[in-house]
Amino acid sequence: MDDLQYGKRNKRGDWAPHATLEAAPLWVRPLNVGNILRWLVGYVWPWNAFHMAVTLVYWYLVVPDVETLKNVDWAWALRLYAVNAAGILLFYGAFEYQLYRRRGQGTRFKYNGKFPADNASDVFWFKSQNMDNFLRSFFVSIPLWTVVEVLFLWCFANGYVPWLSWSVHPVYLAVVLLLAPAIHEVHFFCIHRLIHTPLLYKWIHSIHHNSVNPTPWSSLSMHPVEGFLYHAVALWHLVIPSNPIVALFQINMAGFGAINGHIGFDKVETSEGQGFKSHAYAHYLHHKHFEVNYGGDQLIPLDVWFGTWHDGSPEGEARMQARFAKKRERMNAA
Ligand SMILES: [Zn+2]
Ligand SMILES: [Zn+2]
Repeated sequence: MDDLQYGKRNKRGDWAPHATLEAAPLWVRPLNVGNILRWLVGYVWPWNAFHMAVTLVYWYLVVPDVETLKNVDWAWALRLYAVNAAGILLFYGAFEYQLYRRRGQGTRFKYNGKFPADNASDVFWFKSQNMDNFLRSFFVSIPLWTVVEVLFLWCFANGYVPWLSWSVHPVYLAVVLLLAPAIHEVHFFCIHRLIHTPLLYKWIHSIHHNSVNPTPWSSLSMHPVEGFLYHAVALWHLVIPSNPIVALFQINMAGFGAINGHIGFDKVETSEGQGFKSHAYAHYLHHKHFEVNYGGDQLIPLDVWFGTWHDGSPEGEARMQARFAKKRERMNAA
């Protein structure tokens, strides 16, 4: 595929899309039904449909029965960890292998023209971004993901929180399920904005930001506090009346879906002339510029409302630079 039909490449070899990022059309006035319908298809397919399919596999093949869930024990907790880790190894690994190891599409649609594996850096364990990101994912974040999962399954099984059944509350649960990506977006924005405050950034979030040029393994490369808070999004289903399948969907969307911002390529080519969108650009700009795009694709446009949105356009860049200049002025004055 000719990526220059869809974007431009600068002297450094970094590619950027022509199209600017847009908040969900639900927020655009007047409402455009055609745009909303097209957007709804992308809302479900392919990413959220994938997370739902994974969730059903978990529910029917991996999660033990209710009697077993009533008592936390290592056997089923470790089994869950093993499945989470194997799932991520396969899913993220497939992207990592095709795009970064085989370099199957070269730098076509690649935001940053360089591959992190070509540059050693002291900020990473063993001076390797890949090694550092991989170890932090599998030995810090995925265990904490499993802790959250064990916690909510145990609460549901013991009746500590309401377990609504699909046969009695199908419409309500379908609505909660449809809102799960919005819950994710608001939760992520809030914890993410919090750990960008100077002290917490230095202590916690700088670890994730060491990967200025992220790859799939960067997705879950986090400090333990962030690793827990990020996956704790599923605990909202202990607060609102819900169902363990919906909570599982919520946590799978966080765990498996973290890759979206970190693929590093705008389009993943599948065959000649074919490919699918990664939805990675907004969060790529966050890794590049740090203090923009704290949320995701603006399903709930919190960055737009708080003035931290960078849509990839020259105007977006100018707005960001003006904001940074003001901040520098304030700091110099102080
Ligand atoms: Zn990130
Ligand atoms: Zn950040």
